[in-house]
Amino acid sequence: MLPWHLVILGSGSARPTAHRAPSAQALCIGRRIYLVDCGEATQMQLSKAAIPLERIAAVFVTHLHADHTLGLFGLLASLSMTGRTAPLAIYAHAPLEAMIAHIIELFIAHLNFEICFHALPDEPGAEIYSDSQISVTTIPLHHRIPTLGFKFAEHPLPPNIRPEIVARYQLSRHEIARLKAGEEVALTSEATILRPSEVLYQRRPPRAFAYMTDTLFTASAAPFVRGVDLLYHEATYTQDLLPLAKQTGHSTAQQAAEFARLAEVKRLVIGHYSARYHDLEPLLAEAQHIFPATVLAKELDIHTI
Ligand SMILES: [Zn+2]
Repeated sequence: MLPWHLVILGSGSARPTAHRAPSAQALCIGRRIYLVDCGEATQMQLSKAAIPLERIAAVFVTHLHADHTLGLFGLLASLSMTGRTAPLAIYAHAPLEAMIAHIIELFIAHLNFEICFHALPDEPGAEIYSDSQISVTTIPLHHRIPTLGFKFAEHPLPPNIRPEIVARYQLSRHEIARLKAGEEVALTSEATILRPSEVLYQRRPPRAFAYMTDTLFTASAAPFVRGVDLLYHEATYTQDLLPLAKQTGHSTAQQAAEFARLAEVKRLVIGHYSARYHDLEPLLAEAQHIFPATVLAKELDIHTI
């Protein structure tokens, strides 16, 4: 089983501070790295986390605010300097494509690799990416501009046959393969028919991670992320600043926790803190009061999924 590691690269919101970078996270699965948002300090943070740039398989950008995108251009320049030749997939709202082309023309001139830009669809819930490890679907968010969250889900695992069945009937490899493929197997010597639904079981549910920032509290997003192992949800403010959160299209820590409870996720990481908070404990306490399995996002922390 390949380990999943979420590395927090940036837990801050619009204004970077001495200790917090703007939004960026790296989901590391095996040798592949999926970059989620790409705020200004992303390259530096990747370097501090000892994550090799060349392993980035795809970049997913939630929305086109500066604190989620400005790191992308420097990253592309550096990737070109590493001698990368593998194509890089970027998933973002459509206007970013022209901006990337303009920046490359102005500052980089020639990239050694191809950028495969994919404009995000309007309707949430669409599968936008799939490889041998995971698929990625979009989550509806409500912010000041079009914004989508992302759910990274492991492909359903192939079922196993209950060991006592294999032992009792001395099943051959061929019979096991047929059952796993969903076929019934008739055992004439035993006058028995083995049915897949009766002998197969799932070793464990597939893993999933959901990323939701920037957004107001959005109850309608709960079905899209129900039961995920780990949810990163923005918590820009404490509840006393709820009017400001509503005005700016953000959530409070209490709302992040209420959403986690509503969506029945297993663990919650809160982040995207306003620069006004030097001490994050009030945000954590507020969230844990509602959803105890909450932790703070902190730069370079690793969350295992
Ligand atoms: Zn924003």
